[in-house]
Amino acid sequence: MSEKAKQTAFEWVDENQERLAEISDEIWEYAELGYVEFKSAELLADEIEKHDFKVERGVAGIPTAFVATWGSGEPGIGVMGEYDALPGLSQKKVPEKDPIKKGDPGHGCGHNIHGTSGLGGAIALRYAMEEAGIDGTVKFFGCPAEEMLSGKVWMVREGLFDEVDAVLSHHPSSMNTANLRSSNANNAVKFHFHGKTAHAAGSPEQGRSSLDAIELMNIGVNFLREHVIQDARIHYVIEEGGGQPNVVPDYARSWYLVRAPERDQLEPIYQRILKIAEGSAMMTDTDLEVEFIKGIYNKLPSKTLSDAVTENMRKIGPPEYTDEEMEFAEKIAESISNEDKRTTLWKSKRPNWEKFMDVLIDRTIPDAWDEGEVSHGSTDVSDVSWQCPTMEFGTSTYVLGTPGHSWQNVALSGMSIGHKSLFFAYENAHVQYD
Ligand SMILES: [Zn+2]
Repeated sequence: MSEKAKQTAFEWVDENQERLAEISDEIWEYAELGYVEFKSAELLADEIEKHDFKVERGVAGIPTAFVATWGSGEPGIGVMGEYDALPGLSQKKVPEKDPIKKGDPGHGCGHNIHGTSGLGGAIALRYAMEEAGIDGTVKFFGCPAEEMLSGKVWMVREGLFDEVDAVLSHHPSSMNTANLRSSNANNAVKFHFHGKTAHAAGSPEQGRSSLDAIELMNIGVNFLREHVIQDARIHYVIEEGGGQPNVVPDYARSWYLVRAPERDQLEPIYQRILKIAEGSAMMTDTDLEVEFIKGIYNKLPSKTLSDAVTENMRKIGPPEYTDEEMEFAEKIAESISNEDKRTTLWKSKRPNWEKFMDVLIDRTIPDAWDEGEVSHGSTDVSDVSWQCPTMEFGTSTYVLGTPGHSWQNVALSGMSIGHKSLFFAYENAHVQYD
């Protein structure tokens, strides 16, 4: 790409920082949950339309999913943006726990930044390609409900990623890293048990308790844990367990997530859990209904994209922070114990992690160190990675040691430290073309 084209992209970035910070803050304030991110999706779709992208709204049968396309032909470069919030994490932009409204959602995973950095990257890239006279297509994917681990699954199934050759996305993080670790494959499933009501004291012999079935099933699964591979993860909640104790509950429901590093490791565990559910229904003389919600893949890392993004991050250089920002970070750090920070750093497996115990915001840009590792979490980005080379890189947004999905991360995602991570990230999209 010519110097002039790169210049064009950089100029666009510089001129639009304020606007992008505004969009990020607006989405932060909307804090809409998965599949109902109506205002957030509309804001991003309207914005990209102003830059001559053709926007298709409501794709894959999801009202808050969209695809914006500029240019034509090959190569096809995809950029993803997420914008869903998390329940119960409402928080002001202050360094101590203080909800705007207790119980309301908040951007504890920084997806207000995720959506906006992707948007900025896609637009800057489009101007650079135009300037350089490079043929190709830029697609910005508006991806809803990442926190429900499913928005992109439907978008992939619809074939929306078929025409792109590589996909980039950016996630706020506590390190600047184009990581190479995979993620767990994951099945989500609900178990509905139907029994018979009766007076729990007067005529218990006539009752068939759906809650008993739920409890027996959970016990069975908890015994199963000893006999699954070490890296599997199984967790559940009881969504409904009856009304009050003097009525034998005729309906109860649990919601399970089952995870393993590969789909073919996950499947046999999932099959055994189904058997335990059937056994619980037999033991309690209740009827079982299995509602499979979704399954996602493990992530396929891309070394080529990781190397390119790392190199670009180094060319751009990490952001500088003001004294006020460092004070804010220091106050946030006071809410994290040394023990928790030590564990978080140790779990990152980063070489020489001990050196970061005294660091507030990490400004280093290391080579990815985690090839062959598997993150225990899951993401629907993984399903995209089975379609074409995909890279979701992180830039420092969070104070080192803060837990994911936390009030601390809501606060940081909404203020200038978050903005700086956003600008740093979207500058990456166009340098990519070097
Ligand atoms: Zn996230």
